[in-house]
Amino acid sequence: MITDCAECGLPCRAEVCQVCLVRSFVHRDLMSYTEVIEELRERYMCAYCGEPADNKEHVIPRAYVGEHRFTVPSCWECNNLAGSRIFLTFTDKRDHVRRKLERKYKKLLKMPEWDRYELAEMDGNLRQALLDAEEARKLITVRLEFASEFLSLNR
Ligand SMILES: [Zn+2]
Ligand SMILES: [Zn+2]
Repeated sequence: MITDCAECGLPCRAEVCQVCLVRSFVHRDLMSYTEVIEELRERYMCAYCGEPADNKEHVIPRAYVGEHRFTVPSCWECNNLAGSRIFLTFTDKRDHVRRKLERKYKKLLKMPEWDRYELAEMDGNLRQALLDAEEARKLITVRLEFASEFLSLNR
């Protein structure tokens, strides 16, 4: 039997359509994070990696449910990595973004560490490249730690 969805009024086969069902589920999940998301928003921190956030990430892709208020602050990169896959909980989505970040920087994370004596013997350009890579590795390590800590909060 086709009726109207109690939430959005679109024709559907149940009391509430599937889109509204997913939306209410994600809403409930996000409610459990209200305080921490509010704090991150005040500090302009990415909800996935802790970097400065200048984007809003739609926890359910906009294409799926239209304009809605389920957004979290995020950096450009995590916003991109989050992609358009649909997750039923914010925790699952954070886990997904964390794994994507880790995969993206796999080579950097595996790079050997050089001590300053080894570096001193190197050609200047190579030394600079390695020092830059070391800085980049420190940054991604901090971001991944933020992601892990945040994930452990609700487990
Ligand atoms: Zn509906
Ligand atoms: Zn981020």
